[in-house]
Amino acid sequence: MSAPEFLDGRMLIDGKQAEASDGAFLDAVDPATEEVIGRVPAGTTEDVRLAAAAAERAASAWAGLPPRDRATALVEVAAALRAERDRIVDLEVRDSGSTVRKLRLDIARAAESLEYYAGLAGELKGETVPATARGLHFSTREPYGVVGRITPFNHPIFFAAGKMAAPLAAGNTMVIKPSEQTSLSACVLGEICGQVLPSGVVNIVTGVGAVAGDALVRDPRIRRIAFTGSVATGLALQRAAAEVNVKTLSLELGGKNPMVVFPDADLEAALPAAVAGMNFSWAGQSCGSQSRLFLHESIYDEGVARVAELVDGLTVGDPRDPASDMGPVNSRAQYEKVLRHIDTAFEDGARLVAGGRSLRGERFPTGYWVAPTVFADVTPGMRIFREEVFGPVLSIVRWSTSDEVVAMANDVEYGLTASVWTRDLATALNTVHAIDAGYVWVNGVSAHFPGTSFGGVKNSGIGREEGIDELFSYTQPKFVHVNAMTR
Ligand code: NAD
Repeated sequence: MSAPEFLDGRMLIDGKQAEASDGAFLDAVDPATEEVIGRVPAGTTEDVRLAAAAAERAASAWAGLPPRDRATALVEVAAALRAERDRIVDLEVRDSGSTVRKLRLDIARAAESLEYYAGLAGELKGETVPATARGLHFSTREPYGVVGRITPFNHPIFFAAGKMAAPLAAGNTMVIKPSEQTSLSACVLGEICGQVLPSGVVNIVTGVGAVAGDALVRDPRIRRIAFTGSVATGLALQRAAAEVNVKTLSLELGGKNPMVVFPDADLEAALPAAVAGMNFSWAGQSCGSQSRLFLHESIYDEGVARVAELVDGLTVGDPRDPASDMGPVNSRAQYEKVLRHIDTAFEDGARLVAGGRSLRGERFPTGYWVAPTVFADVTPGMRIFREEVFGPVLSIVRWSTSDEVVAMANDVEYGLTASVWTRDLATALNTVHAIDAGYVWVNGVSAHFPGTSFGGVKNSGIGREEGIDELFSYTQPKFVHVNAMTR
């Protein structure tokens, strides 16, 4: 086996591989070993300025291409990503700590997203409206110009590559700022875009949020920002943007997602799904994780015991090993944050039934390892009930009436996903209707379906992604009123 690659990453600005203007770098740390496995430029305000200027220069030629030509370029990026799959996965596993099995799927999803929006490029249609008898009143969809995209540390290549598809298909150019925790794959994406796309169409600026991210939001040339990350950062972005000019922001933020199991549910399927829905293969670091499991009192004890047994049976280990169900959490900061949340659960009186500690000793001499954890008897007064952990911690809540469980499910600031388990159609639909969420599974968890729009309500965000709505969200309508048919 060849030695793992040390990636000396570069940004992509105006079609060229670039270091930061002041020459500074950030280390990329493997969360399993705490070794430095690469470095990326610590992009500066000046780098963002150069990237935004390049994107602005490239904008009119890119928007002026026939949609089919933009689509062809996206399909070429997808093919190049697939060709680089093993290299990207190898870097990404070590950079993120997420398991190799799932990261392969992220590359596939990113490539599929590029192909999906390439296929939709011809659907950038407007409307005609019979507003007057003789006039022609029609709209066109105009790109914004330069779109800024800021991505979180989980699913790095999917968020960087997959989510550039819709803005580019719609005729925008871009500046992408990946998370400083997991930027290596974005540097490889920069190599690919540098070869496949015209200069300036995609620019990638690595760096910390408070510098490169903030500069991107404040750049007056960037009027459309797409953000995925935490609520606190989303709010900071709204404030910063509002200090500069009028910008359109879409926000894909956090979740504290409920899974509600009714007494008639198929428990053989529901309880393993509760564990799968926690996305332990990402160490729980997925926004859609069902981190609150509501079990009816009639199935509560049986359900708690089975879920604890399943979680105890997960194999925690080297994320490069396909046999591992879970690797470390992503960074030291994330590790300390998850352990603090576990402490609050103990302090508030939740009952530990699995995990509940960091993993140390011979098998885990270094790294940010937390045992997959389950707390039972969680109640709405506890911090673990309402705060997003974004880690491998599942809370189980007992309920007795449908009104009570819906009220508890909604009693948080979030509203991203939900999952409802019952064999009764009326119960399913009534509960779906009553729960605050943007994406709901009935007798299912986790899966995203092509063409269906994903996003949250309440503090989980603004806007929808993954369907045709995402494509349209990168355009603004222009209505045209033609008098030529009058005499
Ligand atoms: P984060 O908010 O800490 O960081 C996200 C990005 O914002 C990073 O690139 C960071 O550098 C940048 N950033 C930080 N401060 C900034 C500032 N002041 N100005 C501009 N940019 C700034 O989030 P994270 O820890 O990377 O990701 C975890 C969060 O993301 C969780 O809350 C999770 O639920 C959420 N998330 C949501 C979705 C979704 O689709 N709804 C998907 C994945 C993750």
